[in-house]
Order: sequence, then structure tokens, then C-alpha cells
Amino acid sequence: MRPRVRFAPSPTGYLHVGGARTALFNWLYARRHGGTFILRIEDTDMERSSTDMVTAIFDSMTWLGLNWDEGPRVGGPHGPYFQTERLDKYRAAAQALIASGHAYRCFCKPDDLKAERAAAEAAGQPWNYDRRCTTLAPDDVARRIAAGETHAVRFLVPAGTTAFDDLVHGRISFDNTNIEDFVIIRSDTYPTYHLSVVVDDVEMQITEVVRGDDHISNTPKQVLLYEAMGAPVPKFAHVPLILGPDKKRLSK
Ligand code: GLU
Repeated sequence: MRPRVRFAPSPTGYLHVGGARTALFNWLYARRHGGTFILRIEDTDMERSSTDMVTAIFDSMTWLGLNWDEGPRVGGPHGPYFQTERLDKYRAAAQALIASGHAYRCFCKPDDLKAERAAAEAAGQPWNYDRRCTTLAPDDVARRIAAGETHAVRFLVPAGTTAFDDLVHGRISFDNTNIEDFVIIRSDTYPTYHLSVVVDDVEMQITEVVRGDDHISNTPKQVLLYEAMGAPVPKFAHVPLILGPDKKRLSK
């Protein structure tokens, strides 16, 4: 199978050298193996994203010679390539996960949970969401939805271990007890990054996810989502970030 890889920047800043390098790895891999290089704009964080930054990313990639085979401006069979134009797909995926028992609606108020977390942390205790909304009676849930009560959707993390063979780092495994039932749809009805990235990588038939090391800790949640959706899990290659002389990440 020819590789299908993607570069998926969030347009919250200029393309920095670390992002350009991640794009370059993807581009080289696709070109070397006669594969497809896809550009996808992850703009669901509407407050921090801007169209000026989208244009700057296109211009920077074009200036670097990193041409894309599918994506904005060139189109392709899996468009649209802006996540804000794909919201119905994420919402449908969340509904399917609820229907299959892999996700549940959470009516807890974000501010209340934030206060609980802050209190636990102040007392030096770890805090994970305690799944209290899994015990709500179905007719109670139906009534609250009908009444228009805002709610999030959380993924129900199964017991066990989640592991993947990283093409750079080798085998990496995580104990699921350390993974909280993460939110996939926020109470404002927008998807979180974990859900949108997996829905898109499945639909765009991505074979290798090549991205920065900073995403290693996100990967077990995403592997769980692929498995729950019954989708093949792509290979992952996490490449090092480029750090400044102060050993800190370069900002965008
Ligand atoms: N939009 C994400 C970022 O800019 C990319 C995530 C990914 O490559 O999976 O960090």
C-alpha cells in the first residue's frame, strides 16, 4: 500500500521551523514511496486560529517547495480539508461512539469540575473525573437532552494497557488507569482535538502519522478511539522537536 501521510497544523501562529521540519519529513516520505501528502488545517480552536495564519502557512510551505497532493486550494477526494468545515462528521462519530457504548454524555459543569480539580491539587492529590455521569438513568439523560441542557461527551476508557510500536521510539505502553475519560465533544458542541484528528485520519486513510514528540502522550487516547471505531490503527513516528538554545520549544 502506498503511504498516505499528512501535515495538520493549527493556524494559531506562523509556521515555525519545527513545524516545517515535521512537514518536510512527511513530504519526503510520501515522495520517496510514491505516496500522497495531505495538508489539513486544524482550526477548531476558533478563538486562537486566524485566516491570516492559514495564508501564512500556505505561503511558507509553498516557499519551501513542500507541495501537497490533497488539501486546501488543490482539493481531493476527502475534503473539505479545514476541520471547521467537517464538524458534522465529528458529531456523527461521537453519536456512534455513544450508541456503541464507548462514550457517554456528561452533564457536569466544567467550572464545578475545574474547582474540584483545583481543590484536589491544592491538597496534593491527583484528580481524575470519577465517571459519575455513567450512572445516570437513560430516561433522566433523555429528559435533560430534551430540555436542552448542555453537556459534554466523554470517552469511556476501558481497563487494561494501551500500547503502540512507534517507528522512532519503539514500543510505548500506557496503563489505562492513568487515562481519564477524556472529553470528545465539549459542552459548546465542538469536538476536541483527539476526536477530530482520529476521525480525519481514518477518513483520509492515513497510513503513517508523522508528528512531533509532544504528541506521544496523546497517542494512547487516539489508539483507543481507533479501536472503538473499529478502524485500523496507523503507524506512528514521533520525531524530536527543535528546541532553542534555552532547551525550550520554539514558539510559533
Ligand atoms: N494540529 C496539531 C498540532 O498542530 C497536529 C496534531 C497531529 O499531527 O496529530 O499540533
